[in-house]
Amino acid sequence: MTRLLIIGPPGSGKGTQAGQLARHFGVPAVSTGDIFRSNVDRQTELGNQAARYLDGGRFVPDHLTNALVKDRLLERDARHGFLLDGYPRTATQATELDAMLAEQGHALDAVIELRAPDAELEERMHQRAREQGRTDDTIDVFRRRLDLYHRQTHEVVSVYAGRGILVSVNGSGDPVGITALAIAAVEQFLTAPRPPS
Ligand code: ADP
Repeated sequence: MTRLLIIGPPGSGKGTQAGQLARHFGVPAVSTGDIFRSNVDRQTELGNQAARYLDGGRFVPDHLTNALVKDRLLERDARHGFLLDGYPRTATQATELDAMLAEQGHALDAVIELRAPDAELEERMHQRAREQGRTDDTIDVFRRRLDLYHRQTHEVVSVYAGRGILVSVNGSGDPVGITALAIAAVEQFLTAPRPPS
């Protein structure tokens, strides 16, 4: 089964693409952002702890995030494959994920990076704020999230590039076309002959 990650800046359409790709590859999409938001809405203990970080556009502390992902990946539907969306976002989380997977004798198959220019991301954020009213879709918070992405998450992208499992996809333009591009790129990557590691 397939173990995938999707990484992209805020506003890159990562959540939408994650849903489509997960459906195509027959694995559950696991979005840390969605899990946090649902906990905030239900006012669970985790939600109450995470709310101020989400509203401020800051990362939820690693100990909360790592524990949440670890539990989720042990659930039955994720044991044989998954598409992680929004995790790992820091080098520490990437190391933690490696350890979680290694414990089960698994490893990631491919990491999808969605790329789009900052100006286009900002434009989409305005649109999403109008449509969905997310409390973290204000211009200041958006810029902080974008800045964090460039500073921290980029490092995660480099780790996977170095490992030879990064598949970069152009995330500009029409979402349906982007899904098709991403599926083709991942399938080509997964079926290409690779030197033994
Ligand atoms: P986006 O990709 O648009 O930034 P997400 O839905 O992935 O949005 O995440 C929303 C918020 O949830 C983040 O700004 C952060 O506060 C929190 N969050 C999600 N994933 C993580 C993570 N891996 N580590 C820390 N915080 C996270």
